[in-house]
Amino acid sequence: MGIRDDYDFENLENAAEKLVFDELEKQLKENPPACTCQECILDIAALALNHVKPYYRVSLLGKLYANSAHMTTYGEEVKKAVQDAIGKISGNPSHD
Ligand SMILES: [Zn+2]
Repeated sequence: MGIRDDYDFENLENAAEKLVFDELEKQLKENPPACTCQECILDIAALALNHVKPYYRVSLLGKLYANSAHMTTYGEEVKKAVQDAIGKISGNPSHD
């Protein structure tokens, strides 16, 4: 039996995803990229996620971290990663 049969990893999540999606939603309104097709938005999200440190946590305990100083710094990193990703993909979309 493998570890995944013995334990339930369902509540383990990368909180970076939610933060990047929330930030992306905000910036799409304030600072829309040149193209907002499915492909470009996914490229922006992937690029941004690759530039922030993963932030795995057990979702049941998530609220404990919500207002910590660490999250403020991390939020700044997420914001910058999304801004950079929008800039890069806007200037160089993967389609014509
Ligand atoms: Zn596009």
